[in-house]
Amino acid sequence: MGPRLAERFASRDIRSVGDALFLIPRRYEDRRTVCRIRDLRPRQIATVAAQVVDLAVKRTGPRRNVLELLVSDGSGMLSVRWFNFNADSFKKRYHRGDRVRLAGAVGVYQGRLQMTHPEIEKIENADAPPGADFAAIVPIYPDIEGIFPKALRKIQRRVVERYATEAREILPAELRHRLGFPPIAQALSEVHFPPACLDPAALAEIRTPAQRRVVFEEFFLLELGLALRARRLKQEPGRAFPVPADLDSLARELFGFSLTGGQRQVLSDILRDMASPRPMNRLLQGDVGSGKTAVAVLAAVVAARNGAQTAFMAPTEILAEQHRRRLAGLLMKSSEKLSTVLLTSAVTGAERARVLSQIKSGQARLVLGTQALIEEGVAFADLGLCIIDEQHRFGVLQRAGLRQKGRLPDVLVMTATPIPRTLAMTVYGDLDISLLSELPPGRTPVRTVVLRGSEVERAYRHVRREAESGGQAYLVYPLVDESDKVAMRSAADMFRRLQDGVFAGLRVGLVHGRMPPAEKDGIMAAFAANEIQVLVSTTVIEVGVDVPNASLMVIEHAEHFGLSQLHQLRGRVGRGERGAVCYLVAHHLASPEARSRLKVMESTQDGFRIAEADLALRGPGEFLGTRQSGLPSFLFANLVRDTEVLELARREAFSLVERDPTLERPEHRELRRSLENRFGRKIALAEVG
Ligand code: ADP
Ligand code: MG
Repeated sequence: MGPRLAERFASRDIRSVGDALFLIPRRYEDRRTVCRIRDLRPRQIATVAAQVVDLAVKRTGPRRNVLELLVSDGSGMLSVRWFNFNADSFKKRYHRGDRVRLAGAVGVYQGRLQMTHPEIEKIENADAPPGADFAAIVPIYPDIEGIFPKALRKIQRRVVERYATEAREILPAELRHRLGFPPIAQALSEVHFPPACLDPAALAEIRTPAQRRVVFEEFFLLELGLALRARRLKQEPGRAFPVPADLDSLARELFGFSLTGGQRQVLSDILRDMASPRPMNRLLQGDVGSGKTAVAVLAAVVAARNGAQTAFMAPTEILAEQHRRRLAGLLMKSSEKLSTVLLTSAVTGAERARVLSQIKSGQARLVLGTQALIEEGVAFADLGLCIIDEQHRFGVLQRAGLRQKGRLPDVLVMTATPIPRTLAMTVYGDLDISLLSELPPGRTPVRTVVLRGSEVERAYRHVRREAESGGQAYLVYPLVDESDKVAMRSAADMFRRLQDGVFAGLRVGLVHGRMPPAEKDGIMAAFAANEIQVLVSTTVIEVGVDVPNASLMVIEHAEHFGLSQLHQLRGRVGRGERGAVCYLVAHHLASPEARSRLKVMESTQDGFRIAEADLALRGPGEFLGTRQSGLPSFLFANLVRDTEVLELARREAFSLVERDPTLERPEHRELRRSLENRFGRKIALAEVG
């Protein structure tokens, strides 16, 4: 193709025939059935055959026009419009009285049915069979700017006809036969241009063997990469940390409570890993407030008893500082005498030099910190255990970075954002997973109330009552400052307004991410000590902050947040004796869906259910949020839609690596090559991770 067209393809990362082969239709239209105009319904995707009754071009601005067609098939009239179309060439080809076929979505405009931007073809004479775009189940490709769907389809047809047979078969024959998958050439050909005999419903639901194979292949390569990596990690020589016998009593001494059954269970998973001579690579998933920190600290104690240091990396300074406040004294006073230091970017000058030297000498046993821990100048004497808190806030690279500070240390990553199984299998597919689902005793369920913006005063009145009776509250806003671009309330602005307004006389504080760390820390300490009654904040308090006396939360512009994020925020309350309430205030509810989304929060506090709903609503990319979330991008496979194929691919991949750990066998040669080609960089990344 010429350079202009090639450029348009390149805008979608399609640079070779191979790329084009894997540009898979996003849906299909069965255009073999022709609909009578009288039977058309709004939102239906339909094909009609009719006569042109009228044809007009209206100018709507410089280089803007609307091409309007009125057609009739004897049963009714339909109006058809194209915007900014090349009207001249259209008028050369189509005239009043011509018979045409049209295919597209039916809409309603000014009370009348119409089609906008349908595909059109002229019926030259009554007996002529329809052209390729109308005779069959027709693939609808993802839009590529500057290429008409019909033209794109024509190109794809040529690509598939000429080159599908050149596609390399990477799946071993045995596997293909067992799973009932067609060979790759046939699969591609059928996925692009489905044979007439296929059931359109199966196609729509991605159930045909050809479609399943294409999805499978994508997942399979990823899972193979993960399986290889998991195996490699398990084979590395790590250290064995014998487990002391007195952990239960130690827990009571340290924290003043006994571990819950759930905590004991996950701790025993962790200690089993630590006792084994292989490095631990474990994900601890536990809902907000389930008590992961206590478990992590006990693991650190075990490492320390064996003479090794622990690095505990938290995503924010607030959180690192809070850990230090709670743990340093505790650990120093206990029989354990674990010396704890804090390293964040706020630790500077002489203090920093002192901390760095204690880390280097090994005197510091538990090193708490933020990402500052993975900076170059930080050297450990003997890092034996890495704990990464709220892993979802970090990327794959940070995990690798911390791990490299030791010689094959044990790694425990923790997350309080419950991750739906499918995501866990991909993003964390190389980790062993422990689940902490039980909450510590004494928790009060959080009553959640969705309010409209006009009802926000109700929430404010509750805050005042709560503060006056000794309680504390969070008010959360999406922004730090008022921004002229978005009409949204901001923390700084509302802090001023509320302090002098409805909350006059109360001790109100403000915290947000752009404050100097020391100031942030001071505010959080004052809130923990109930010197601040009402804390106005941004989402900096989202993870980990633990002030049991705070029992009320008001989240304004709740419609702006993802469900999992709301769940995290809400997890800040309900940690103490006081009955907890969370108000979700929606100032701009765009749609009924937005409201029902918030209603999910009213109906459940189960983080996993919320996460599933969130994933389904927003898709995996948005769900994970972070740029380096490690989420692989798929060409066609879909983590929400294709979960069953994903499970299959994972099972097969792990079992294959079990049988042929280095993919040496001849029947696996193509697989191996493909892994290196397609995921080369990511596999390399996996090596260090
Ligand atoms: P997470 O990090 O999982 O969100 P935390 O470790 O911060 O949860 O624990 C939340 C709160 O529960 C803390 O105040 C902690 O002291 C308390 N807690 C943890 N485990 C127990 C337990 N077994 N019994 C009573 N309270 C507990
Ligand atoms: Mg935590």
